[in-house]
Amino acid sequence: MNLSQQELKNWNQFLTRVNDDLDPEESEAWGTKLKLVDISPNQITIGGINHFFSNWIKEHYYSFLRNRLIDCFEKKENEEIFRFNIHSNTETKENSKSVNTFVNSSKSSNKHSDGLNPNYTFDNFVNGENSEIAYAAAEAVGEKITDSKYNPLFICGDVGLGKTHLIHGIGLKAREKKADLKIRYASSKEFTNEVINGIRFGGIHEVRNKYRYVDLLLIDDIHFIEKKEATQEEFFHTFNDLIQNNKQIVITADRYPREIKNLEERLVNRFNSGMVARINPPNLETREAIIRNKVEDTGLPIDDKTINFIAASVKTNVRDIEGILVNIEANWSLLGQDISLETVKRILKEVLNIENNPKTVDNIIKLVADKLQVKTGDIKSNKRDSEISRARQIAMFTAKEVTNLSYPVIGKHFGGKNHTTVIHACKKTKERISEDAELRQVVTSIIRDLSN
Ligand code: ADP
Ligand code: MG
Repeated sequence: MNLSQQELKNWNQFLTRVNDDLDPEESEAWGTKLKLVDISPNQITIGGINHFFSNWIKEHYYSFLRNRLIDCFEKKENEEIFRFNIHSNTETKENSKSVNTFVNSSKSSNKHSDGLNPNYTFDNFVNGENSEIAYAAAEAVGEKITDSKYNPLFICGDVGLGKTHLIHGIGLKAREKKADLKIRYASSKEFTNEVINGIRFGGIHEVRNKYRYVDLLLIDDIHFIEKKEATQEEFFHTFNDLIQNNKQIVITADRYPREIKNLEERLVNRFNSGMVARINPPNLETREAIIRNKVEDTGLPIDDKTINFIAASVKTNVRDIEGILVNIEANWSLLGQDISLETVKRILKEVLNIENNPKTVDNIIKLVADKLQVKTGDIKSNKRDSEISRARQIAMFTAKEVTNLSYPVIGKHFGGKNHTTVIHACKKTKERISEDAELRQVVTSIIRDLSN
């Protein structure tokens, strides 16, 4: 099968959407196992599942899957000829694996009804200086649920930094310590929906029973109850009940309690009354450790240099790192491509729009030329057209700002210009920048694009 990059993307999107929509049990049973076997303009063949499930899907999920295929592969709804087949036990390639190896499914799919995801253990969490405090507090709470020092524990941090992972880790650890502990995990969205439905359809007592009679309550992403007054009211009482009865509460949010707008003051105060721990973005070393940890068991042939390259490029969050690894794995297992540095660079560009821009003068010239739509060669030339010399001056200024090079050395990179030309360019550009907001933005964005 010859898969284009676009088709691979579509397929990944399809898998993600299907598994987001399925119940955890269905997702676990067959949703995450689906594999792309063949694709042609009007037919897609899916495999990877056994005979039983292929029949099951045909019977119950045919249009569910077909609609999502139509969406993700941008097929036309009325395209009668579009069909899809399901084969049982078909492998695409020998080394083919589930594309989702790196992503701990966000679904809980265990026999417990506490909502915990068995993959989000403390063991699977790579702890760095960015997460030290949150991790230590989480571990302490998980170890000693009935008498912890940190109650409530409030974990905050930007998206994709491991808050959900840690809050599940606490639940899993607590369950491991004491199997009969009553644990309840819910996102604040779920909580909100249940409260709203409870009020509307007269089932608020069940909601109360569900959340107030537990030993450990884990509420993820509390910031979603911003503005939801009835939910806040309900949560406030739940919170007080539990704390009064010495039950443990753990909450996560994408910011500090005080920064959640429209959160009632009394809730802010309650949250601040315990331990508030922030997770920060991981540094380079930790990012490398996270990548190593994630590729360890997968057999993905990826060398140190490439790991280092990914770690240096993806600085934002761990979810993005996982996304890149999923794509690298797919390129390897579905397309049979080697994991060369070139492949990785292309994937970084395609998936996260990350381009590696070293702070070299040549690269600066290229970036400036792209932004201002002039030719690289013209910048290095002696042409005196106003647009070109302006771009040249901006490039010289940027080079002086972001490199440690001297004026004469910078001049050399511009086709052998004199150092006085560079000095003049820097002075001139500085003046322009102070007057021209648009130019200021252009220069700032170029400097920002240059990686550290
Ligand atoms: P958040 O809830 O903060 O948005 P998640 O907990 O959902 O982030 O993390 C996103 C993904 O990254 C998850 O699959 C999680 O397992 C993984 N992850 C985050 N931080 C770490 C870490 N320090 N070590 C290992 N995996 C991590
Ligand atoms: Mg989360």
